[in-house]
Amino acid sequence: MALIVHKYGGTSMGSTERIRNVAKRVAKWARAGHQMVVVPSAMSGETNRLLGLAKELAPASPDGGHYRELDMLAATGEQASSALLAIALQAEGLEAVSYAGWQVQVKTDSAYTKARIESIDDERVRADLDAGRVVVITGFQGVDEGGNITTLGRGGSDTSAVAIAAALKAHECLTFTDVDGVYTTDPRVEPDARRLKTVSFEEMLEMASLGSKVLQIRSVEFAGKYKVPLRVLSSFTPWDIDIEEEAKSGTLITFEEDENMEKAVVSGIAFNRDEAKISVLGVPDKPGIAYHILGAVADANIEVDVIIQNLSKDGRTDFSFTVHRNDYARAVDLLKDKVLPTLGAADIVGDTKICKVSIVGIGMRSHVGVASKMFRVLSEEGINIQMISTSEIKTSVVIDEKYMELAVRALHKAFDLDQPTA
Ligand code: ADP
Ligand code: ASP
Ligand code: MG
Repeated sequence: MALIVHKYGGTSMGSTERIRNVAKRVAKWARAGHQMVVVPSAMSGETNRLLGLAKELAPASPDGGHYRELDMLAATGEQASSALLAIALQAEGLEAVSYAGWQVQVKTDSAYTKARIESIDDERVRADLDAGRVVVITGFQGVDEGGNITTLGRGGSDTSAVAIAAALKAHECLTFTDVDGVYTTDPRVEPDARRLKTVSFEEMLEMASLGSKVLQIRSVEFAGKYKVPLRVLSSFTPWDIDIEEEAKSGTLITFEEDENMEKAVVSGIAFNRDEAKISVLGVPDKPGIAYHILGAVADANIEVDVIIQNLSKDGRTDFSFTVHRNDYARAVDLLKDKVLPTLGAADIVGDTKICKVSIVGIGMRSHVGVASKMFRVLSEEGINIQMISTSEIKTSVVIDEKYMELAVRALHKAFDLDQPTA
């Protein structure tokens, strides 16, 4: 008997029929003798629907005045799905109880719409488990010190599940989703993508941070910090498949390097369409420029990703960086108002139609020439690279959005990711 956490994503919870299926699957695990905690997402489309209603009433104001209410609103999606799942579990003949984040409590900071979990009380949940109940806990949400409801950022139910698993010292956290594991790249973009049986924690962290939405990055961080065994698997297999088989299916995030991993130079390709590029042109090339530009952006709480500064010509240079597309308009306005006049730059231009494509692999540490192969493959496809950023186990390029799928597919093939590993 073990304590197991299951997480079910929005598509897996997408209709009463699917919720019934989830309940049957959880019941199978409970009847096999496990103590079960289940963390569901809102039914698919629900979070978007709710946030869309808010947008109709008030397009996001620059000062973020209504973020608290957005969390109050969006958190209801998970409250509804959790209650429905508990009802479905009871209909299966199990004792089940559902809790909202504030009831458990899942305590977070007060950064509405992107709050971080600070601690989780496990007393109440343990008492229920010891009494033989299945416990359903809302994903995506928590409560801050002042008792306000917070949410953890899009895709945050993954993080709820792993954090709850860590707090309860669960045997494993199983993340059930609409694909049967972590693939070499998003299988919706590259049909020849292959499922990875295991992926190292470091690679998963990079893939998640570079845009692979299969796991929210903070869930991977939690798994690493607390060494939570984490598996991604399908909720679309028949609910009654053999439990031993199911327990070994999907992709396991591993914390130790095994021999297999050493072999793949590139393990996966991630992409991100959520960024936009801003260039400050004709900046006088003198000390303090980067600080002057990026300091103003940081003060406005806007995160910056890839940065490049060109060689200067006649004492002037161009400075470019990327931000999240949602922050693009705000960043440009800010630079025009505050930075352009004081800096004496010539102009500010931007491009929202860009994407970032990245190759990831711990094998890159020990192999040279991986990045240059990436650049060659892209040049052979006639794709212009606008920006480059590298770290030990990844290389990212910013390119025109319209070439994203072509780039992903060409790189996938060039790095033999469609070929079974030995
Ligand atoms: P859930 O609602 O279950 O949390 P998400 O939509 O958040 O599901 O994440 C699953 C999706 O992630 C898949 O449907 C797939 O399109 C996408 N995805 C992106 N990159 C990958 C990858 N490398 N492997 C598997 N899925 C990926
Ligand atoms: N429902 C939330 C979202 O759509 C959280 C999640 O699904 O993980 O982002
Ligand atoms: Mg998700």
